[in-house]
Amino acid sequence: MSNSRKIAEVRPNYFRVPLSEPLVDAKHGTHTHFELVTATVVLEDGSEGTGYTYTGGFGGRAIYDMIKYDLAPGLIGEDGDTVEALWEEMNWRVHYVARGGIASFAVSAIDIALWDIRAKKADLPLWKLLGGSDNTTKAYYGGIDLDFPLDKLLNNIKNQLDKGHTAVKIKLGKETLEEDMQRVKAVRELLGPDKVFMVDANMKWTVETAIKAVKELEKYNIYWLEEPTIPDDTVGFAKIAEASSVPIAMGENLHTIYEHRFAIQYGKVGFIQPDASNIGGITGWMKVAVMAEAFNIPVCSHGMQELHVSLLSAVSNAGYLEVHSFPIDEYTKRPLVLVNGRAVSPDTSGIGVEFDWEKLKPHKINLD
Ligand SMILES: [Mg+2]
Repeated sequence: MSNSRKIAEVRPNYFRVPLSEPLVDAKHGTHTHFELVTATVVLEDGSEGTGYTYTGGFGGRAIYDMIKYDLAPGLIGEDGDTVEALWEEMNWRVHYVARGGIASFAVSAIDIALWDIRAKKADLPLWKLLGGSDNTTKAYYGGIDLDFPLDKLLNNIKNQLDKGHTAVKIKLGKETLEEDMQRVKAVRELLGPDKVFMVDANMKWTVETAIKAVKELEKYNIYWLEEPTIPDDTVGFAKIAEASSVPIAMGENLHTIYEHRFAIQYGKVGFIQPDASNIGGITGWMKVAVMAEAFNIPVCSHGMQELHVSLLSAVSNAGYLEVHSFPIDEYTKRPLVLVNGRAVSPDTSGIGVEFDWEKLKPHKINLD
């Protein structure tokens, strides 16, 4: 076998994984599946890494196709160690048609695979490779629970507290604000006055409604209000942020590092939540984390807790890890570990996310 670090192969796979029950939020509708698109990169010396991205049920096939037909051909023969340069190249290759869209997901899967190879070569776990000094990070349970009746909502939260969570988030965006506030009040009573409690409106409201809501939320010691309105309305975000003492959070729908800059600098968010599956992988996520540090705000995450745990453990301005309701980690060899409410990063070399391919097999969609 050669000792060349050139890329020999990029191999995507596409899965549609059913959820154990349909999950509803305010604007994405009902989720019955999540899609998982993996990308395995092989170097000429035999080194191999696997990265991935996911969706709420749609778009996965286009991501798979972009990896296979647009990005992979440009990577073959390139130096697999030059991760940041390849990130640039990949982004520019598809920039004209896909900036901030499908490209952000497709580039993410490949970038994460390249980081897997890099960390394995260094024989370090990801959190350490990225400069972390502690392998744990603060975590919260993020429910997708908008259609849960109140008793089910409360029971679900009790279950999560029993599992070791010390911070929780619920969805808002019911038909009326009154209904939302009844749910907030009931959950706050269940949690007691001090537990960390976030809420997420998934872009449901107008700016005017969001301002009404955030003023009401002030009574309930809310840690953050997430995505009160559409991510495109940066000016609106700033108005909402200025209307109360409740910090505003966003990031899952910001798919370029520049959009994150606008949210922080002009949208006045108090927490930024990049998702390595749609911000250009680990390279993109770390760029946002450093930028957030310069603005003195905490960086958080969205989804894929099994990977983000290592990223948040690595940075000094870590906020909270979201433990999302899409259980990608159940299809890996090491589901997320929680100890005293903190998530613990894997200690194996590489990104620490190794898929259980046998478990995923029934959900594979064969496209070729
Ligand atoms: Mg959210």
